[in-house]
Amino acid sequence: MSLFNHIQAAPADPILGLGEAFKAELRPEKINLGIGVYKDANGQTPIVQAVKEAEKRLLAKENTKNYLTIDGISEFNIHTQALLFGENAQVITQKRAKTAQSLGGTGALRIAAEFIKRHTTAQNVWISTPTWPNHNAIFNAVGITIKEYRYYNKETKSLDWNNLIADLAHAEKGDVVLLHGCCHNPTGIDPTPEQWETLAKMSAEKGWLPLFDFAYQGFANGLEEDAFGLRTFAKNHTELLVASSFSKNFGLYNERVGAFTLVAENENVANNAFSQVKSIIRVLYSNPSSHGASAVATVLADNELKANWIAELAEMRNRIKQMRAKFVELLKQKGATQNFDFIIEQNGMFSFSGLTPEQVDRLRDEFAIYAVRSGRINVAGITEANINALCDAIVKVL
Ligand code: PLP
Repeated sequence: MSLFNHIQAAPADPILGLGEAFKAELRPEKINLGIGVYKDANGQTPIVQAVKEAEKRLLAKENTKNYLTIDGISEFNIHTQALLFGENAQVITQKRAKTAQSLGGTGALRIAAEFIKRHTTAQNVWISTPTWPNHNAIFNAVGITIKEYRYYNKETKSLDWNNLIADLAHAEKGDVVLLHGCCHNPTGIDPTPEQWETLAKMSAEKGWLPLFDFAYQGFANGLEEDAFGLRTFAKNHTELLVASSFSKNFGLYNERVGAFTLVAENENVANNAFSQVKSIIRVLYSNPSSHGASAVATVLADNELKANWIAELAEMRNRIKQMRAKFVELLKQKGATQNFDFIIEQNGMFSFSGLTPEQVDRLRDEFAIYAVRSGRINVAGITEANINALCDAIVKVL
């Protein structure tokens, strides 16, 4: 008698499953606009040169493979805080922020979910609709009630601001409100600075616990600019949480580098709360791995390497912006009946293209073009080599 034979197959992950289907696709002209990975003008996901250089230095000087501490590399954690809040930000100088290196942004979100469930009074976590599907899965995994706030207006293809505010008006004191720090996934639409200020004020008045998912710092307008929302909240909140990732902005996808950061009212409260974060990590995976975070810390500690990294990040950001403009222009030229100008305004890798699930299916079946059925496309997957075929195909399925 098998103890396993009653187990049903799990549904494929909507995004990672798409990657597997793309791999298995035999048509040579195939185009992948699915998973959120940066690609350069040649369609490759490059290793950031500053990281390569840091790795050389690490290889030369590494002399032990001893365990890291539960919260990881302290230099990495210090640099992470400076990127998030700005050099010498008050939350840092007041020692109210505590950071643990994590297994990517996903790992940081899972730590956040466990911490919220076990150590806060939060009854609900408010998640934008639409959002990155793993948000729902992570909070479901720890058994916190999920409530949705509207985010996207299909008609205007912009932020559904009035409904967002109307929905969040129901969030209660202590509820967690999950916000995408920038480059909202999947819509690519972020609040304006004024809207961030309004939200931060509302949050502070209502006593929410904000949780920032900050996976794309540097992909919208720049490292400092993209932190505007988080820093606005940090100014008028005594407590908040951040799950940040270096997967995209350092191109360290397979090294799993991220950070969980907790901000508390004062140093003492922060230390107590953080000791519980360490207990959570201890039973999840004990302590993180060293390589990727060491590379990040090495780059951020060296002025020249850091400048090179910032320049490479700007190159990635600008290539995506150029592709957005070219894509919209070419669709127009090829006679698209719909206006796609909104794509130029969106931030980060993703565009909520407005394509319907049926149109996405046709793109895959008839043209070997892979995108998420919600209509989300990864603009970084567009290159000079595939943009013509892509626009021809889209015009055909519209
Ligand atoms: N949050 C959002 C919105 C994302 O899009 C991603 C990755 O796609 C992550 C978090 C997690 O990133 P990772 O775990 O790869 O660092």
